[in-house]
Amino acid sequence: MEFSDRILQLTAEAEAALAPVFKEMDEVAYRNSARVLDSYRRHRVSETMFAGSTGYGYGDTGRDAMGDIYADVFGAEAAFVRHNIVNGTQAIATVLFGLLRPGDVMLAVTGRPYDTLSQVIGDKTKNGDGSLADFGVDYDEVPLLADGGIDFDGIDAKLKEHGARVKVVFIQRSKGYANRPTLSSEEIGEIARFSKARSGAYVVVDNCYGEFCDDSEPTAHGADVIVGSLIKNPGGGLAASGGYVAGTARAVELCSYRLTSVGIGLECGASLGQTRDFFRGFFFAPHVVAQAKKTAALAAYIFEHLGYEVEPKYDERRHDIIQTVKFGNPEGLCAFCRGIQAGSPVDAFVTPEPWEMPGYDDKVIMAAGTFIQGASIELSADGPLRPPYTAFFQGGLTYESGKYAIMMAADSLLKEIS
Ligand SMILES: *Cc1c(COP(=O)(O)O)cnc(C)c1O
Repeated sequence: MEFSDRILQLTAEAEAALAPVFKEMDEVAYRNSARVLDSYRRHRVSETMFAGSTGYGYGDTGRDAMGDIYADVFGAEAAFVRHNIVNGTQAIATVLFGLLRPGDVMLAVTGRPYDTLSQVIGDKTKNGDGSLADFGVDYDEVPLLADGGIDFDGIDAKLKEHGARVKVVFIQRSKGYANRPTLSSEEIGEIARFSKARSGAYVVVDNCYGEFCDDSEPTAHGADVIVGSLIKNPGGGLAASGGYVAGTARAVELCSYRLTSVGIGLECGASLGQTRDFFRGFFFAPHVVAQAKKTAALAAYIFEHLGYEVEPKYDERRHDIIQTVKFGNPEGLCAFCRGIQAGSPVDAFVTPEPWEMPGYDDKVIMAAGTFIQGASIELSADGPLRPPYTAFFQGGLTYESGKYAIMMAADSLLKEIS
């Protein structure tokens, strides 16, 4: 691929401007890598742990050590990491069903949670499917303020209204596919302290896309539980599937009873040969997350200079790996996604087209050319075909491949609009 002089020059300018930003990202990656390595040493990680187990999975030292290491690195008392958690949604559902009982209230304090959770939360008028609502768990939420900030007065009012019935205060760290800012671990700590001063509820954080972006995770700042997907940040691009839950010993125990069964908890669960990739992926994760952040920052610079509104800006602190670019028209959004696809290592020859996706009102276009199906720590982009035609994109296993795909996307866009 030969890029035009305009793209080459803009990329060179971007990299010059980004040098201090990249340096800061490398430093976060170094400190997080050091924490991972210290933990591997403390837990005496060795070859025998990678052998894995079959059947019941009793005495699987590698699987158990991986859980202890996640707990250690994330500043939690306990954790489990399992390949048979099918995605982030199941990991979060496991936590919600593990902690909430009939009559309890789940209070979401960062607005409506991620789309896929709405059916988990359920709807009292549509019982029968085994949602939280079906089991008599009530749901309430505190929207974010107009500027995206946390509505502490609103949280206070809802905690007073529902009193001791609130069992879970739910926080979503990343913007996900919403138009809102991402929270830092420190900001989440502030919400956790505020809630705990007024309530005995568990503070649960959907930590998807946030791991290793900051120097510490929300559990190190007072959250009771964090939960996420292994085909995002903590799998480092190597985990083939899975999820994790980390938090206080009691909360993790309750979640483990939901994962397997009461009384069995974490004693069972064959790792079926996934352990080595989990250890290797978690080892790579701080570095890979930095690669994804660099790719996002490069895109922020380039597309801002091509005249588009971007969020976050190239020099803003990033607490997740998501970047948005507002194209303002469907042609721009589609050209961008086609460029990302063409710059991917897998399925680069296919052309993404907008399609009707179940659960969405508008057509959605998606670009993903990944080694692990749907792994969004690898470079992917998508956006609904409706104004303001925003592309959400994330990932990049290596900065070099991310840079190439971003240049392809810029090239595709310039050809389309000229
Ligand atoms: C990815 C994600 C989830 C879970 O999605 P899955 O596709 O089920 O893995 C939940 N919340 C947020 C904010 C996410 O980004």
